Formats: sequence, C-alpha cells, structure tokens
Amino acid sequence: MTTKKIPIPVEAGVPACRFLIERPAGTEARPPGFGGRESLIFQYTAEVAPNPFFQCFGIYNDVMAVIQFADVTYRVGTATLVTGLSFEVEEGETLVLLGRSGSGKSTTLKLINHLLMPTVGSVQVNGKDTREWDPIALRRRIGYVIQDIGLFPHFSVFENVALVPRLEKWPAEKIRLRVTEVLELVDLDPIKFADRYPAQLSGGQRQRVGVARALCADPQILLLDEPFGALDPTTRSEIQNQFRVLQKQLGKTMVFVTHDVAEALLLGTRIGFMKEGKLLTPAPPPDFLKMDDPEISAFLAPVRSLLQFGSALTT
Ligand code: ATP
Ligand code: MG
Repeated sequence: MTTKKIPIPVEAGVPACRFLIERPAGTEARPPGFGGRESLIFQYTAEVAPNPFFQCFGIYNDVMAVIQFADVTYRVGTATLVTGLSFEVEEGETLVLLGRSGSGKSTTLKLINHLLMPTVGSVQVNGKDTREWDPIALRRRIGYVIQDIGLFPHFSVFENVALVPRLEKWPAEKIRLRVTEVLELVDLDPIKFADRYPAQLSGGQRQRVGVARALCADPQILLLDEPFGALDPTTRSEIQNQFRVLQKQLGKTMVFVTHDVAEALLLGTRIGFMKEGKLLTPAPPPDFLKMDDPEISAFLAPVRSLLQFGSALTT
C-alpha cells in the first residue's frame, strides 16, 4: 500500500476510494462522529464530500495497490519468459501492457490470476501472495478476457456469459437479469443475441461476449488480453469508445494487454512497455510519449506520422 499526499478537489466530487484523514499537529477540530483517533481510514461517500472539515484537515489519498509484483521472474525449463518485474496496479486504474509479440504480456497476466506462479519473487493481490490465495476464491475476484476469447462453441451466448454465476450457484432469475444487463452494457441486444451460438456471431460480437462474460459476476479486477485484437479499424474504434464509457461507469482495476499503441494511449491510465520479458517503468500516456527508448519510438512512429499527416491536411 502506498500513501500519497494528494490534495483532493472536494467540490469536484472524486470517485469513491479510500482516504486517510490525518489531524494536523495543533488542530483540535475533528469531523463530527470520527472519534478521537489521530488518523483513520474510511470510505469516501458523496455525503461527506461537502463537509467543511475536509477543507481544514490534511487529506491524504491512501491509494490501495490491488496488484503488486515484487521482482518477479518466471521460467519454464531453460526459458525465462519474464524477468525482474516490479510494479503496482492501484485501485480503479487501467494499466496497459504494451509490447511486441512474445515480449511476455500474456505471461504477466497469467501470473496475476494463479494460472502461473512466479519462479522468483512474489505477486500479491489485495495484499496477499497469490501462493496463499485459494485459486477459486482468487479467480472469483478476477474477470479474465483471454487472448483468443475462448467462448465455448456448444454454449449459447447466454450460457457463455452466465458461466461464473452458474458455477457460483446464483438463483436462475438473478443470472437472467445479470446476463441481460451485461449484454446491454457491451451493446449487444439480449433479445437478438442471447440464444445464438459463437459460430453465429461476427468476430467483434464474439469479443463483446468475452467482455460480458468477464464482467458478469462483477469482479473487482479485470484482466484483458488483447480483447479487441483482429477487428477492423472502425469496429475497433467503436468498441474502444464504448469501453472508455464502461471504464468510467464501473471504475474497475484493470490490466489491459495490447500491441496497439493508439489503443494503449486511449485506454491506459498508465502504460507499461514490455520488451524481452522485462517491463519499463509504467508511465501515464503524456509521459510515455516522451520516453526515450528506441523500441517505444518505433511503436510511436506510425501514430506520429499520422498526426503529422493530419495536421498537414488541415493547414
Ligand atoms: P503476443 O503478443 O504474441 O500474444 P505475449 O507478449 O503475450 O505475445 P507471451 O505469451 O507472454 O507473449 O510469451 C512470452 C514468450 O514466452 C514467447 O516468446 C513465447 O514463445 C514464450 N513461451 C510461452 N509459453 C512458453 C512455454 N510454455 N515454454 C517456453 N516458452 C514459452
Ligand atoms: Mg499474448
């Protein structure tokens, strides 16, 4: 867990998250109902936001690291797939892993949800080592969109999306309502699509079903492995824009893998560039654009030429 000293724009209304409120030395006043402790952690709500005490108290944003890699290496036989990975993913952020094919992106995702265990180092989810997590309990917290979508061909769209709630033995009516809700969320009309089979869908529709399935049991964390790969540019751009809306609506903690730099810049709160199993320090998009690395420059070259071409056309 990291504690950062961030002034909170109280009036602007910040998203729900945890704050550490500290009483500055020499200050006697306390927010009503907060007892006599020097510091406390509580859940931020809309009702407490306008409280004037928050203006005079020091407010520290206590950002939870939901996922934490500490010097992680993963080997199979003599092959080292990833090495020395150290990074955190904070609550509500979307960390994008960007990199060439074979750079270790999918391996990194699999180390989060217990599909792989580190050979060296540790991966923590919610402060607990993945080795100590019950794999089923861990995966219940994590929605996973796998690289090739992985829909069951003999299951209808409804059955594919309802997979985890059924395993968790939700009541039938609750499952029906939830499946309807998530299909609508990814812009698939449940009446039209719920009874179709994967072979009766386009690639883009299958990818939406994959995202709906990952969302269905309302997991805390979403791992998305190239969820919009292999789509035509127009459909891809539509889905990306819908996904941005979902990001804001749902506020989930996400790790999103792509090798599309424009997608990374559009969707990432931070971008971590992977090369040959190593991760360069993740940076927010504006800082990522300034990073001095030949491979990143090669990735950015097409975007830069497009921007230059666009501005040449308009001047
Ligand atoms: P892509 O963009 O093509 O999906 P990626 O960045 O997701 O690539 P990974 O799937 O993480 O790459 O694989 C990283 C490297 O590890 C690749 O070179 C791959 O060939 C290799 N690899 C994956 N699984 C194994 C394995 N079981 N044994 C040996 N090498 C493996
Ligand atoms: Mg991959």
